[in-house]
Amino acid sequence: MNNKDYSQRFIFEDLDIRGEFVHLESSYQAVLSNGDYPEVIQRLLGELVCASVLLSSILKYEGRLAIHAQSEGPVKLLVAECSDKNGVRAIAHFDEERLTDFDQNTPLSALITGGQLAIMIQPAKGKQYQGIVPLSGNTLAECLEGYFEQSEQLPTRIYLAADQQKAGGLLLQQLPGSPDGVTEEASNQWEHITTLANTTRSQELTELSADTLLSRLFVEESIRAFEVQSVNFQCRCSKEKTRFALSAMKRQELEDILEKKQCIAVDCQFCTTRYEFTRDDLKLLDQQEAPQNQTATLH
Ligand SMILES: [Zn+2]
Repeated sequence: MNNKDYSQRFIFEDLDIRGEFVHLESSYQAVLSNGDYPEVIQRLLGELVCASVLLSSILKYEGRLAIHAQSEGPVKLLVAECSDKNGVRAIAHFDEERLTDFDQNTPLSALITGGQLAIMIQPAKGKQYQGIVPLSGNTLAECLEGYFEQSEQLPTRIYLAADQQKAGGLLLQQLPGSPDGVTEEASNQWEHITTLANTTRSQELTELSADTLLSRLFVEESIRAFEVQSVNFQCRCSKEKTRFALSAMKRQELEDILEKKQCIAVDCQFCTTRYEFTRDDLKLLDQQEAPQNQTATLH
């Protein structure tokens, strides 16, 4: 396989269980290259981007999905987005001094304190949906499993891992096989499959291909894998959207900046692209309408 960044859907032929696998290299490295992140944040971003791809694949919609956290803890802001075309981008803001005692074993709830973790779906058409993810698990994967449990969806297991180069993830979900709900037999099968999946090591998630990992974990099961979908780093910023974001600022503040400088420069936080606005550019603010699906934020 040439593309090393991909997601792949699969089903167990004889069981009511489906799955999704994701492996990221260059898209993850592109995310990391846009910020000076300590290792604990790098890993968290890797897991977060993998999770956004996995969730985006199983929750069918046209638009984009974001996993978003804002907190008063060492991690101030955390965002990973995945579009329906598997375009990903992510960012983290953090308090470096408060991170020094933390490593990859630090519970997520210690990094995100006094805030919340949420899943947001912004469909191409229609209303935005937001679901709060309980910070009850130690890891991001456990917290997301708690979300599925709480929102009374289907039993779901999620495994995520990232080192400083690669990131990977696996999601398993039990499907409602019969109209009467999940049978005892299906329940036992789910138990069996998740017991096997629980043996997955982090290194296997980041190093192995979907084929190798699945055949290693589920030796006796017949698995049908679907077409591989490539994942790419993709930012959706534009000069137009940035100009609209500036419209949320007081006109006088913008004028004050222009008094001192030739133009107003705004760097996209996700991809570091710089957009510059002269006084003439800003004249358009007065008659500007919001680009589709754009809110007045700078990212
Ligand atoms: Zn950008």
